[in-house]
Amino acid sequence: MSTITNGNLAVSMPKPRMPAVRNRLKDTPVPGPKRVLLAAPRGYCAGVDRAVIAVEKALEHFGSPVYVRKQIVHNIHVVSTLEKKGAIFVDEVDEVPEGSHIVFSAHGVSPAVVRNAADRKLSAIDATCPLVTKVHREASRFSRDNFEILLIGHAGHEEVEGTMGHAPERTTLVNSPADVAKLTVTDPDNLVWLSQTTLSVDETMETVRLLRERFPNLHNPPSDDICYATQNRQVAIKKVSEEAELVIVVGSANSSNTVRLVDVALENGAKAAYRVDYASEIRQEWLDGVSIIGVTSGASVPEVLVQEVLDDLADAGYGDVQQVVTAEEDLMFSLPKELRKDADGNDDARGLGGRTRQLDWQKP
Ligand code: SF4
Repeated sequence: MSTITNGNLAVSMPKPRMPAVRNRLKDTPVPGPKRVLLAAPRGYCAGVDRAVIAVEKALEHFGSPVYVRKQIVHNIHVVSTLEKKGAIFVDEVDEVPEGSHIVFSAHGVSPAVVRNAADRKLSAIDATCPLVTKVHREASRFSRDNFEILLIGHAGHEEVEGTMGHAPERTTLVNSPADVAKLTVTDPDNLVWLSQTTLSVDETMETVRLLRERFPNLHNPPSDDICYATQNRQVAIKKVSEEAELVIVVGSANSSNTVRLVDVALENGAKAAYRVDYASEIRQEWLDGVSIIGVTSGASVPEVLVQEVLDDLADAGYGDVQQVVTAEEDLMFSLPKELRKDADGNDDARGLGGRTRQLDWQKP
């Protein structure tokens, strides 16, 4: 068991409910006292919590199978756990038998996907994160107002495809700061920038600075598109990286916000930073000579996976865990409207608890 100290408060973390391979990592001597700095906030955001519960509720309401377009959230453990409960993940709606139930993932969909689902008489449950929906609405509105949209985001990411689909004729993708010099636009005085919700804040601001240098009359979005969860997790790992020699980020390779946490750690002082899906991926040589290890997790990662990492690190002598808290989160989203009633027709409050909810996760 790891002991977490947070100021004067000591909190004992329960062991994961799943069996783990223990004592794999060795307790080797290092120059100073061994410690873990545990970033907070980390892990589940309100949009991920809502989306995962939406699939579980859909299975309860409608029975198996329930189809899910794309990964409901970008985490292999979450996806495999839901598969075992009866969810079937597909790439496109035309793989789904007519008349079935389908859940759209937290990353959102384009209007064309909604139309295709309706054409196949699918009963759709939209688990798009409300903060992604906000960007969709901005894209639609700016398009209606004849703006040209410069969307900062990563080509091929599902969220980017969904957002571009709301203004396909008027959106140009800007992948990185290096793209700015190559852009061609129709009217430099009628431009607005929007962004994917899960980018590096610093890199995005650099892209916007370069855009504004080229297009001084560039309009800003009405509010931040990079979401609170992405920003909060980056601020926390920045603080941790001021001290940590090694940072371990728990999360999947296709999770944009997870991968950005690795980048942010390296840019802000960590000598090394690695992403792992599971504690079993931590390599002994990463710990060589390291006294202080930072730990965090992406917004789609259940806390039990972080607890496994802490337990493995405790085996290697890093049992002293100090939380570095840079923000408190209490945002809550209500469930998609199709799922707000329980079997008796009463309001179902599940999904209104943000990160406080505990799930009985099963290791695949
Ligand atoms: S990372 Fe942000 S945009 Fe994505 S699901 Fe979570 S809150 Fe929503």
